[in-house]
Amino acid sequence: MSAVRIMPKAGGSSRRSLGIPDMSHPLQSEHVFRLLVESTTDYAIFLLTPDGRVASWNRGAERIKQYKAEEIVGKHFSIFYPPEDLVNGKPEMELRIAADTGRFEDDGWRLRKDGSRFWANVVISAVRDDDGTLLGFGKITRDVTDRREAELRYRLLVEGVSDYAIYSLDKNGNVTSWNSGAARIKGYPGEEIIGKHFSLFYTREDIEARIPEKILETAAATGHYEGEGWRVRKDGSKFWSSVVVNPLRDQDGELVGFSKITRDVTDRKKLLDTIQKHAEELELRIAEREQTYAELEAFSYSVSHDLRAPLRAIEGFTDIVLTDFGKQLPGEATEYLQQVLQATGRMNRLVQDLLTYSRLSRIDFQPGPTKLVKAVDEACAQIDEHLRDKVAVSVDPTLRVSAHLSTLAQILLNLINNGLKFYPPGKTPHVEVRAHRDDHNILVSVRDEGIGIAAQHQERIFQVFERLHTADTYPGTGIGLAIVKRGITRMGGTVRVESAPGKGSTFYICLPAA
Ligand code: ADP
Repeated sequence: MSAVRIMPKAGGSSRRSLGIPDMSHPLQSEHVFRLLVESTTDYAIFLLTPDGRVASWNRGAERIKQYKAEEIVGKHFSIFYPPEDLVNGKPEMELRIAADTGRFEDDGWRLRKDGSRFWANVVISAVRDDDGTLLGFGKITRDVTDRREAELRYRLLVEGVSDYAIYSLDKNGNVTSWNSGAARIKGYPGEEIIGKHFSLFYTREDIEARIPEKILETAAATGHYEGEGWRVRKDGSKFWSSVVVNPLRDQDGELVGFSKITRDVTDRKKLLDTIQKHAEELELRIAEREQTYAELEAFSYSVSHDLRAPLRAIEGFTDIVLTDFGKQLPGEATEYLQQVLQATGRMNRLVQDLLTYSRLSRIDFQPGPTKLVKAVDEACAQIDEHLRDKVAVSVDPTLRVSAHLSTLAQILLNLINNGLKFYPPGKTPHVEVRAHRDDHNILVSVRDEGIGIAAQHQERIFQVFERLHTADTYPGTGIGLAIVKRGITRMGGTVRVESAPGKGSTFYICLPAA
């Protein structure tokens, strides 16, 4: 066991000045205290005489400095110092400061017995008796080589980062460290900027608005600041920066400064600005187009509406002429009048479809939970009686969609009627309506075995007046699928077709499930 060879004077007064409690409890006896010091291995704890000779030695000292007690006690402590410190008289200077101020602390290189160096954290305290006479010094040394290496590695890492400006400020905002990224991004070399206030990087307007101070205040108060803004380089040019500021506090929680990470994100900002500009232009154009559409729709609505009265007159009077004077008319005239009636019928359907189509854009309907089967039933009720049995429906009555009932019924009717209409002459039509749940949606299909649609036409048939046949082959207005598309879109759904000529067609409607 290494021993404390010299205690600075035995007795109560020296114990007190060393902070050793003089009490009778066994754990507080001088002996126990001595054991504690001696057995400590993480710290070299030893005493020096007033002139700097080693007076005691513990296990930590033996472990860290490699000397045994009998080898070192009595030797001058300057033996632990590297030559450059001896030249400068550092050991004596440390004792002098400790004697004058009571304490000296330092981080620096020290030597082991084998001459190797370790990075030490050293605290020297003066030990005095009650009269103030200097009895010697207490010295605690820690080997913090690992910590220093970790700090060095960390510093090198930070230093080497060139994409980010990483630097620190004291609590007043003066620059205290500066990495290569900071030099690159901001244009100042470290030696020029260290000590200067960081508001140098801000625009005049930001300085006038006290932005730099506000950023530090926010970081100190909330523990973090994050933001973007224009900053100024040394050459006066500006860059758009993304900044993170964190407060640095000591172990007592006292604010000692700030760490700052800044990135130059000018390219991203430029891109976002361009996108924003395009988006605004697009919105403007859409607004203009919507206005035009609205005007056109209002126009078509009023025209269609106004056409109905004269149409009814033509139809009514032609009917009267045929009924009341039919017998007096030559056969040819009767035939012409029949054609007039057919034409008015077609025009009536056209006007009706146009009105439905424009109403779909004008009315403000809110889709709500709707039983799908109800819409299918409503549609089937409007199918020509002699064709009704050509439609097979297989829909689970519990399925509910988010829709507007009468609009959905109209849409299904249009699809079913098309399925019943576009058949090769002589073939019996057959249409199937099915539905199933697909995740959050309901998928409704209307399938026929008719003439089919070539791939290149499958898009355009959803536009107004787009027809693939003459009215003589297949009558129609060319508005049915436009109504389908607009109605479904307004209810938040989608519609598409799968088809091939001669193979029939399947129209799929996808609506949100309710
Ligand atoms: P309409 O039925 O009044 O002609 P639509 O807008 O309903 O108008 O349909 C547009 C065109 O799409 C039709 O003229 C037809 O050429 C084609 N089409 C629609 N449905 C089918 C179908 N089930 N099978 C084959 N072609 C179809």
